[in-house]
Parts: sequence; C-alpha cells; structure tokens
Amino acid sequence: MRYAEHISDLVGGTPLVKLGSSTSGPLVLAKVEYLNPGGSVKDRIALRMIDAAEASGELRPGGTIVEPTSGNTGIGLAMIAQRRGYRCVFVCPDKVGEDKRNVLKAFGAEVVVCPTAVDPDHPDSYYQTSDRLVREIEGAWKPNQYANPEGPASHYATTGPEIWEATEGRVTHFVAGIGTGGTISGTGNYLKDVSGGRVKIIGADPEGSVYSGGTGRPYLVEGVGEDFWPDAYDKTVCDDIIAVSDADSFHETRRLAREEALLVGGSCGMAVVAAKRVAETAPADSVIVVLLPDGGRGYLGKVFNDSWMASYGFLPPTEGATVGDVLR
Ligand code: PMP
Repeated sequence: MRYAEHISDLVGGTPLVKLGSSTSGPLVLAKVEYLNPGGSVKDRIALRMIDAAEASGELRPGGTIVEPTSGNTGIGLAMIAQRRGYRCVFVCPDKVGEDKRNVLKAFGAEVVVCPTAVDPDHPDSYYQTSDRLVREIEGAWKPNQYANPEGPASHYATTGPEIWEATEGRVTHFVAGIGTGGTISGTGNYLKDVSGGRVKIIGADPEGSVYSGGTGRPYLVEGVGEDFWPDAYDKTVCDDIIAVSDADSFHETRRLAREEALLVGGSCGMAVVAAKRVAETAPADSVIVVLLPDGGRGYLGKVFNDSWMASYGFLPPTEGATVGDVLR
C-alpha cells in the first residue's frame, strides 16, 4: 500500500505546467505551489523552520508558535503544529480576507487582526503586536519568516533542486514575487550556484513596494511587496525586478483561471505578468519558470468578484453588475 503517515509529509515535489498554447518562442512553465498540502509555497518554510527550532531547542514540547502572517505561512505552520502538538497564535493585517483567516481558525489556530494602515513601528502594527504576544505567552516561539534563514534555506534545499531536475538543467530564467524574499533568494541562489550563474533571476513586485524602488505606498495584491527590507531577502539575488500594477496583476489572475484552468491568487497573476514581459525579449529557446505561490479560493470575494474589481476601477462599473455577467 502507498500512503503518507500524515498530510504534512507531502510538502514539496510540486509540478511544472506549461503556460499558453504557443509552440514557438520561450517556454513559460508555472510551478504550481497550491498543490502543496496546505495550499501554498509556505508549507516549505513552515516545515523547515519548525524542524530547526525543535533541533535548536527554541521550540519545546507544548510550546506556542506566534507569527505575523498573511495566512499562507500560518496554514503551513498550523498544519505541522497540529501534528506535533503546538498551539498557534497568528497575527494578520486587516486587508487579509476573512476567508483566509477562517481557514487558520479551522486548523485550530487563534487569529489576532491588526490595522494595515499604521506604521510598522506603531504598537498596533502586526509586527509589534506579535512581538508583544511572544513576550506575554510562556513557551512562545516566533518563527519570524522575515528574518529566519531557514526560509530561504528551505527553497535552496527543495524548490531550486526540483526546478533544476524537472527542466533537466535547461531553465534559463526564474521569476517569482518577493514578499519575505525567501522564495526568490533560496531558489534563485540555488539555480545560480548549480548553473554557474547562467540562470537569470527576476523579481516581480507590486508597484509601490520598496523592492522595485517604491515608497511602500499601499497596493492590493496580497503576500508580496514590502515597506521595509527583510533579512530573508538577499538583495544581490535578482538580476532584474519588474514592477506590476494591481490592475495588470488581477486581470492576469482572472485570465489564468478562465483560460488556463489555474485558479490561483493575485500574486500569481503578478508573477505571470512579469514572466510574460521577460518572454517578450528573451531568446526563443529560453525556459522561463514562474512560481505560483497559492490558490485562488482565498480570493473569491476580491479578485474573482466583479463588484470588488469595479469598486477599485479594475473593471468598468457596468460590467460588475449586469445580468449577462452573472449568466456568463
Ligand atoms: N504570494 C503569496 C500569496 C504569499 O503569501 C507570499 C508570502 N508572503 C509570497 C507570494 C512571497 O513569497 P516570499 O515570502 O517567499 O517572498
């Protein structure tokens, strides 16, 4: 019989799927991370951060995991915590959809919601709130995905080698969004090392985020972009960083669902817009791998909701409410 002892044993090993139907020009391959058991790329770092904290003694039996997370890291942590008997308390910014927060609760985690529109130094910010909880809860351990070297290390150990093996070493470009920077730093550095620097690493970033030279002004794509420079991000890894607007990200996200049957999150649309821009100028024999961090079910009330899209001007107002749209 072939079976896993536990769902958390099935992290990683995600497939590559070709994007588009074109038979000429660069090959664009999506690494479909929503096929991880917790539904996102973040399962990888959760597993490795917990393993390392147990090994170092920072996380002890019966301990509590406290982390500021936009949802996906929380799901990964909660999945493994459940298996190993830890309590989880997660701190989320209020822009994170209620669906995503309810998923964390369903896994048995506690969720604390904080305002997005405050400075990172403000006592109510989600960074400060999580620090306070770590001080107050006995046996608390904060993975701190923004600074924990095990985040990028998990991608160096798994995501990078998977891409290299699946493409038989023919990958020429790797494109990914930058949130904590763990994915692009770990995967990017592995692909650079194994290829002797041949593979080009391209970051995708929401317009307004610091990585692409912005001031940190708000944008709506979730999970990517920052208003500060996290330690998990290796500033030297990217050969190029492409800024993508919310509108372009969301339209591409909807197109992926409608035309390629990939129901994925907004940061996936953003990364694919960047990958397509890379493909426009890359040599015809290029193999461009773009990482899709999570699935689209957590965004049904937003990106996939016509009224929500229209309320931000991403769709014309009429298109949001016509009978034809409902029937389509
Ligand atoms: N997309 C989504 C939906 C995410 O949750 C994250 C993680 N914050 C990312 C992209 C970016 O990944 P990383 O933190 O590894 O840069």
